[in-house]
Amino acid sequence: MWEKAIVIGGGFAGKLAAKALSSYFQQVNILEADREYKDPVPRKRIPQSYQPHVLLKSGEEAIEKLFPQFTVELLEKGSIGSNFTRDLKWHHFDFWKDRFKGDLNMVQQSRPMLEWQLQKRIDKVSNITIRYETMVNQLIINRKENKILGVRIKSFKTGMEEELYADLVVDASGFGSKSIDWLKAYGLEVKEEKVWIQLFYATRLYRLKKQERLDWTNLLISPSFPENHNGAFIQTIEENRFSVTISGYANESAPQTNEEFIAYAQSLPVPDLINFLYKAEPISDIKIHKIPYQVRRRFDLAKQIPEGFLVIGDAHCRFDPLFGQGISVAALEALELQSFLQQTTRLDTGFTRRFHKKIAKLIATPWDMAITEAFRHPNIKGKNSILLQFKLWYTKRVYQASAHDPFIYTRLARVMNLIRTPLHLFHPKVVIPIVFGWKKKV
Ligand SMILES: Cc1cc2nc3c(=O)[nH]c(=O)nc-3n(C[C@H](O)[C@H](O)[C@H](O)COP(=O)(O)OP(=O)(O)OC[C@H]3O[C@@H](n4cnc5c(N)ncnc54)[C@H](O)[C@@H]3O)c2cc1C
Repeated sequence: MWEKAIVIGGGFAGKLAAKALSSYFQQVNILEADREYKDPVPRKRIPQSYQPHVLLKSGEEAIEKLFPQFTVELLEKGSIGSNFTRDLKWHHFDFWKDRFKGDLNMVQQSRPMLEWQLQKRIDKVSNITIRYETMVNQLIINRKENKILGVRIKSFKTGMEEELYADLVVDASGFGSKSIDWLKAYGLEVKEEKVWIQLFYATRLYRLKKQERLDWTNLLISPSFPENHNGAFIQTIEENRFSVTISGYANESAPQTNEEFIAYAQSLPVPDLINFLYKAEPISDIKIHKIPYQVRRRFDLAKQIPEGFLVIGDAHCRFDPLFGQGISVAALEALELQSFLQQTTRLDTGFTRRFHKKIAKLIATPWDMAITEAFRHPNIKGKNSILLQFKLWYTKRVYQASAHDPFIYTRLARVMNLIRTPLHLFHPKVVIPIVFGWKKKV
C-alpha cells in the first residue's frame, strides 16, 4: 500500500475515485469546498443538482462493482425501477417508439438522492476522510523530477492556508476545475476541445393532482433538428414526484414563468407534456441551468503531466447532458483507476500517461456521440466532413428505424447506455433495413 492519496472534490467522480483508491492507499483524503450535508438536498457548489440525472446502465454496473448492493439500497430507499424499452415513452424524429420489455432494467431517482446514498457508503469506508469547506488553490509539483508532491489549500472555516502532501493527487473538481491553470503556472500546457452548444435546461418538480397510474415512468420528446428544436423530459423520481425538464440549444431563451413554461410545452410537436401539466401541480420553482459548451481536456496528449497527478470526471471532460453520460463515465473511470492500481507497483514510471491514455479511449465514444448530435442543429457549427455527414445520416435512420423494430431499438438502447460500442449498430439486421429502407409508420 502507498501512504496517502488526495482527491480534489467530493462529487460523484471524487467519491468513486476515493473508493477505488481506498484499497491501495493507507489514507485517502477528499478535499471538498462545499459544506458538509446531512440530507439528500441539492448542494450549493453543484448548481446542476436540481436538474434530472439519468444513471446509465454502464454507470450503474460500475458503481455496483465499487459498492456492491448499491442498486438494491437505492430501490429500498425509494428509487424507481424501470425497464428502458418498456417504461420510456419516447418521441423522436416524427415517431413514437414501440414499447416492449427489454434487457435493460434501470434505476432512477433525483440527483441529490443518488449522491446522498453514495455519500453514506463512502462514510463507511474507514480509511477515507473528507475535509469540507476546503478549497484547493494550487498543485505542488517537483518540476525537476516531474512528480506531484501535493496541494495548497485554504480552509473556509479558519481562513488558514496550508500545504498537504501525498503520493497521488486526483483532480475530480468538476467542470470548473483549475487544473489547466495550475499546470500552466509550472509551464505545462493542456489543450481543450470545445463545442459551443449554448444549451439551457429548465426544470420544475410536479405532483399529480389526483393519484393515477401512468403507463410510463419516463416521457421523452427529443429535439429533432432541424425541424423541431425543442425537447422535453419527464422523469418519475422518489416520493411520487416528477421532474419536468425542457431544453433548448443555441441560445434560445429559457422560460422563466409558469406561462412561458406552458407556452414552451405547447410548442412541442406532440401534446403529451401539456396534457401531463394539466394533470399536475408544481411543487418547486423553475430552476434554470445553462451549459455554454462541451469540453474535452486533452491530458492524454499533453507532455509531461507530473507523475502521480490524474484528472477524472467533468474536470477531464464535460458532455452535453442530454445524453446523461457524465456520472456513468466518472464511474467507469474510477473502475479503470482501480484496475490500474491493481496492476501497478510504481507510480513514477509512466502511470499518469498510461492512465490518461486509457481514459481518453473511454471518453472517445460518449464524446463523439454527444458532439455529433449537437452538430445536427443548424446553428451549432462543427468541422464538416464526409464522416460527420455519414454519422448524422446513419444515426437519424437508426433512431427512426428503431421506433418499430425491437432488434434495432434494443441495440440502440445498449449503445446509449454505454454497454456496447456504436459498432453494435452495424449488425446486418440493422444495416440492411437502414440502407434498403424501413417502413414509415407514425
Ligand atoms: C443540466 C445538467 C444535467 C445533467 N444530467 C446528467 C444526467 O442525466 N446523467 C449524468 O450522468 N450526468 C448528467 N450531468 C452531468 C453530471 O452532473 C456530471 O457529469 C457530474 O456531476 C460530474 O461529477 P464530478 O464529480 O466530476 O463533478 P461535480 O459533480 O461538479 O463535483 C465537483 C466537486 O468538486 C468540488 N470542488 C470544485 N472545485 C474545488 C476545489 N478547488 N477544491 C475543493 N473542492 C472543489 C465541488 O464543490 C464539487 O463538490 C448533467 C449536468 C448538467 C449540467
